[in-house]
Amino acid sequence: MECMQDIETIEEINVREDIDETEKINETEDIGAEEKIDICSLNYNELAEEIHALGEQPFRSRQIYEWLHVKLVGSFDEMTNLSKSFREKLSKTYEIPQMELAERQISKADPTEKFLFGLGDGNMIESVLMRHPYGNSVCVSSQAGCRMGCRFCASAIGGRKRDLAPSEMLRQVYQIQKLTKERVSHVVVMGTGEPLDNYDNFVRFIQMISDERGLHISQRNITASTCGIVPNMYRLALEGFQITLALSLHGSTQEKRRKLMPVAEKYGLSEVLKACDDYFQKTGRRVTFEYSLIAGVNDTAEDVRELTAILKPRNCHLNLIPVNPVTERKYRRPDRKNACVFKNKLEKNGINVTIRRERGSDIDGACGQLRRRYAAADGRTR
Ligand code: SAH
Repeated sequence: MECMQDIETIEEINVREDIDETEKINETEDIGAEEKIDICSLNYNELAEEIHALGEQPFRSRQIYEWLHVKLVGSFDEMTNLSKSFREKLSKTYEIPQMELAERQISKADPTEKFLFGLGDGNMIESVLMRHPYGNSVCVSSQAGCRMGCRFCASAIGGRKRDLAPSEMLRQVYQIQKLTKERVSHVVVMGTGEPLDNYDNFVRFIQMISDERGLHISQRNITASTCGIVPNMYRLALEGFQITLALSLHGSTQEKRRKLMPVAEKYGLSEVLKACDDYFQKTGRRVTFEYSLIAGVNDTAEDVRELTAILKPRNCHLNLIPVNPVTERKYRRPDRKNACVFKNKLEKNGINVTIRRERGSDIDGACGQLRRRYAAADGRTR
C-alpha cells in the first residue's frame, strides 16, 4: 500500500509540475506583453546593472543614461550611437514613459508659463515655469491629485489618483526644457501632490535630477514643500541632501492649523516644528515656512503674535502667499494694504518675511487650477 501511495504521489507531483510550467509560461508572456520596465526611473547604477546583465559593455549604460537624462530623448530610435538591433532589444524589455503636452498657457502678466501634461494612463498633471533674474525654475507635481485635503487648495478636490513615478517627475522638467529650449536651473516641488506621501519616488527624483551624469541641477537650487508628514521629514533629514525644506504652516496655532489642514489632526504643530528643527540641525539648511494669507481667517493681530512666538526663536524664513482664489473654495485673500500691514508687523518683531510675488495670475495660477478646469470642461474626474 505504501508503495502504491508513493507512485500516486509522484504522478500527482508530475502533473502539478506540468501545470506550474504552463502557468509560468503564461506569466512570462503576460509580463512581456504588458509590463515593461520604466528605464527612465532607473538611477545610474541600476541602469548599469541592467545593461551589464544584457551582456553589453559598461560604456553602453553611460551612453543610454546620457540620451535619457542629458539629451532628453523620448524614444530608443533617437539613440543613434546604438545599433538598430540593440535598440530593438532595449524596446522589448524597457519603455520610456510618454508624456504629451495637452495645454500650454503663457502669462501676459509676467514671464510665467503653465503646462498641462497627459500621462500614459490618461491622468493629467500640471507644471509651471517661472523665469527669474537668477534662472528658470520649474514647479513640479509629485502626485496626480492629492489626498491631504487642505481646505484652500484646488489640488485636494477629487483626491489622489496615484503617485507619480520618478521618471514622471523628471520628465516635467525635461519637457519644459525641451519645449522652451531654455535651461532649467531651479526646481520647486510645489505642484500638485504631497512629495512626502510619495517618499521613495520623490527621493529618487532628487537624486536623479541633481546627478552630475544627468541635468545636474544643484541641490541648493531645489526646494520641496510639505504639509508636515513628520516621520518622513525626519527621514529626509538623513538623506544627505542639500535641498531646502518648506513647511506649509498656514495656521498660527494648532487649532487654526487643524481647521485648514486635516493632516494637522495626525501631526500636531509642536511635533511638526520639532521635525523642522531637526532638519535644520542635520542639514544646516534654513527651513522656509509658507503661510497662505486668508482674509479674516489667519491674518489677525493674534496671528501676528502667535507667528512671532513660533518663528522668532528659529533661524528661518517666512513666505506669505495671499491665497489664490479657487473657484470651488470660499476663501478670500486680504487686500494688498492689509497683507503689507501683516508683513510689516512681523518684520518689526524681527521675523525674516517676504510676500511671495504673484505669478501667472491670469493663467489659472493656483496649484491644481488648470488641471481642475480641464477636468471640469472634459467631464473627467482625473
Ligand atoms: N503638498 C505640499 C505642496 C503643495 S503646493 C505642501 O502642502 O506643502 C505648495 C504650496 O502652495 C503649499 O504651501 C500649499 O499649501 C500652497 N497652496 C495651495 N493652494 C493654495 C492657494 N489656493 N493659495 C495659496 N497657496 C496655496
